Amino acid sequence: MIQLQGVARAAFVREARAVLDFDLARQLAFEYGTPLLVVSKSKLIDTYHAMRQALPGVDLYYAAKSNCDLNILSTLCAENAFVDICSEGELDAALAAGFTPDRMLHTHPCKTDRNLLRCYDAGVRWFVFDNSFEAEKIARLAPDASLLMRLAVSGNSSMINLSSKFGAPLEDALEILQCARQLGLNVRGFSFHVGSQCTDPEDYRSVLRSVRGFWDQAAELGFGLEILDIGGGFPAPYLENAPTMDSFGFVVSEGLRESFGDLPIRLIAEPGRGLSAECTTLITRVIGKSTRWGTPWYIIDDGLYGSFSGKVFDHADFPLIVENAWDRGAEACVIAGPTCDSSDVVSRDQYLPVLEVGELLLVPSMGAYAGASASPFNGLPVARTIQID
Ligand SMILES: *Cc1c(COP(=O)(O)O)cnc(C)c1O
Repeated sequence: MIQLQGVARAAFVREARAVLDFDLARQLAFEYGTPLLVVSKSKLIDTYHAMRQALPGVDLYYAAKSNCDLNILSTLCAENAFVDICSEGELDAALAAGFTPDRMLHTHPCKTDRNLLRCYDAGVRWFVFDNSFEAEKIARLAPDASLLMRLAVSGNSSMINLSSKFGAPLEDALEILQCARQLGLNVRGFSFHVGSQCTDPEDYRSVLRSVRGFWDQAAELGFGLEILDIGGGFPAPYLENAPTMDSFGFVVSEGLRESFGDLPIRLIAEPGRGLSAECTTLITRVIGKSTRWGTPWYIIDDGLYGSFSGKVFDHADFPLIVENAWDRGAEACVIAGPTCDSSDVVSRDQYLPVLEVGELLLVPSMGAYAGASASPFNGLPVARTIQID
């Protein structure tokens, strides 16, 4: 592969940026305290429209799992997005944000009876399944639902493999389809997920090719297929840059054209991270410091059990932004969270200036799988969320 340098390369990557500056951060920290997650409404709207433009003709079902904060759901609802829900809790959040059930898709391939019934009773009619036991469950509880069958695929570049637990293996998928047919179910399309934080859009191209092969086999058997759901996976920038929305979407769109361009079908996607990550910045405060065996240690008021839980569950490495860093020098240091757990270390490998107790750090790209998986371990409340813009 050719490595592009400097300016040429900058045109194809985007870096993690804070949605506010330190002046506003100080003001908000004074008003609301820290740790504080700040959601920028305008950044979210811009990201949504950038993705719409990068994937023309694809309806976006925001994956509420990545962050079901009401601010984020309401903003996307007002922009006419659709929503992907997996549970009663996400149903309630989506309803509270204004989504009507006809704009919802339930994507959990293994639902409790209660989850399925609650969502069905609320009016949700589109569900996902990936095995014959789930097909039986749906036939029993929601026989007239419209179904997408999730297929297991492998995206080589993704940080998180989402086919290792869900999705029908292609070699079993025809049999599961036949079973669904015998049960009288209405299978109307397929879904897949290349894996989260996919960094190479070529993954979609190759997956789309194999899905088309399966699609044709199913169509030959007389299944009336009308929807292709390409899942989530769009990446966000962290310590590592990410491809721009345009350059990433261009390849995905090309893959869609190549493999499905000849079919008059509805295309949908379920982006989570790609929509929600960048609109949120964490404000955290240095609450203590020490020197341990020659290395500076800083304790901050948020950590792995809180907003940085994304480092544990999502393998995300968040960049830490320090005010005026360029004229303060930099040295190796350890940044650790506020709990008494020794594993609660946020960073060991970022070079930062000498920090003062009380100063604020900004942490960008905290909107997806960060606050969403935070816990109040050790009696420390999770970060509060506020919206700006
Ligand atoms: C997690 C998930 C998504 C969102 O994935 P991202 O990588 O955040 O875009 C979409 N669909 C399903 C079924 C998921 O489980």
